[in-house]
Amino acid sequence: MENLKSSTAALATPFGELSLPRLNRYFPASHLQSVSVVVPPEMPVLPLAEFGFQGKLPDAFVGFTIGTTYLIGPGYLGREGIHFHELIHTVQWKILGAEAFVVAYAAGLSRHGYRNALLEDMAYELQSDFENYYSPVDAAARVKSYLERAYAGS
Ligand SMILES: [Zn+2]
Repeated sequence: MENLKSSTAALATPFGELSLPRLNRYFPASHLQSVSVVVPPEMPVLPLAEFGFQGKLPDAFVGFTIGTTYLIGPGYLGREGIHFHELIHTVQWKILGAEAFVVAYAAGLSRHGYRNALLEDMAYELQSDFENYYSPVDAAARVKSYLERAYAGS
């Protein structure tokens, strides 16, 4: 991970410098100001086995979020829906904290597989709403209530 960090730090761009105005309507400005975006020359291979994940990820692996930084595959920089999806993960990460995010993510992957893991399912559902509806919704608030429902009583 250290190599990944040092090799990508120079390529990190503040979210606000990207021209993605529609996304500004779905997330609080204070959140977007904390987000950085990295476009690596090619996507890194993720050490998911280290988290105990043995299953299969989708072939078209185009984004990955670590804290308030997300990587997006070269060629996808103009895809608002992909940015939206990764922004949902930055909100999840912020609400849960690093440790709980990684634990919940890994547990979801091994129990339900990539697409149906809780944190992915939430990101895909909200991404689908973003891509199919025009009225802005407070995506960060929806993540919060989704997580509260999911973890209620646990
Ligand atoms: Zn995702």
